[in-house]
Amino acid sequence: MAGDQNVHGQSLLSVRNLTVTFTTDDGRFKAAEDICMDIGRGESVGLVGESGCGKSVTALGLTRLIPNPPGCIESGTVLFDGADIMSMDTAALRKIRGNAISMIFQEPLSALSPLHRIGRQLAEAVLLHRRISKKEAWRFAEDWLRKVGIPDAGERMHSYPYQLSGGMQQRVMIAMALMLEPALIIADEPTTALDVTTQAQIFDLTLRMKQNFTSLLLITHDMGVVWEMCERVIVMYASRIVETGSREAIFEHPAHPYTAGLLEAIPRLSRGRQRLKDIPGQVPSPFNYPKGCHFQARCPYAFERCRRETPPLFDCGGGQKSACFLMDKAKE
Ligand code: SF4
Repeated sequence: MAGDQNVHGQSLLSVRNLTVTFTTDDGRFKAAEDICMDIGRGESVGLVGESGCGKSVTALGLTRLIPNPPGCIESGTVLFDGADIMSMDTAALRKIRGNAISMIFQEPLSALSPLHRIGRQLAEAVLLHRRISKKEAWRFAEDWLRKVGIPDAGERMHSYPYQLSGGMQQRVMIAMALMLEPALIIADEPTTALDVTTQAQIFDLTLRMKQNFTSLLLITHDMGVVWEMCERVIVMYASRIVETGSREAIFEHPAHPYTAGLLEAIPRLSRGRQRLKDIPGQVPSPFNYPKGCHFQARCPYAFERCRRETPPLFDCGGGQKSACFLMDKAKE
């Protein structure tokens, strides 16, 4: 499968044919299959799709954070700034995570230790990667708590994570991810627990970081956020990438029936009081993906070939690609 094209020329992150499986009591299934993507320096890419489609697994896979067992990276290469992540030793990986690649997860407590005060955790992260004094690291961290909108930042530095609300924990984790100005931020539904004003504040901070060529992989099911934040979009369905292209191409002329369905389900002012359309049917069980196109049971255009072969990503022009045989049919 061909990789998608970034709009910024040279790739910072290049993923080829990444496949991740999980083994459970009910058997083994592919959670992410044959994933190829490139992210350029300073580029922001939205990875979208319904829950369970493999977005988070892809992010965990490319940073080698898949818990093994039950998970397993079956195949794939991941190059970050030219270095091969899949063959790195633990020390090299640890150096990259948190410094060059920062991650913001849906669950803040996965990134914060319950045993130590917020200030200590943040300042230690700074000291690990910066040659500054403890006092300076403390002040730097406190300043970042302010930037992510934590009131009484000085006082909060002395709190334990459990003493903060979910939204505040989320903001601490965001501060931790952004403060070292990483080359790549991987953010998995980063602002779901936050109110709209704080969300806007965080997005503004992240966008400002792009001026320093920080790249962003934003995982979300919120297409509105993708429109605001991302230049390019990758759409996943049932473990596979089904479409990729510039934000404008994806939103204005989606080529894959699934992407079109996703966009039909978003409320837009221009549609007035028109009813929103659902995509009929259910996402197939990962234990039971059909042969051929995974979207076939829900697709109004499915034909014989869709049940026989796996659609590769066909070129639609202008950097847009769609894993749908309709693209091939159009050329006939
Ligand atoms: Fe529909 Fe076939 Fe295209 Fe899949 S490949 S989206 S089933 S037309």
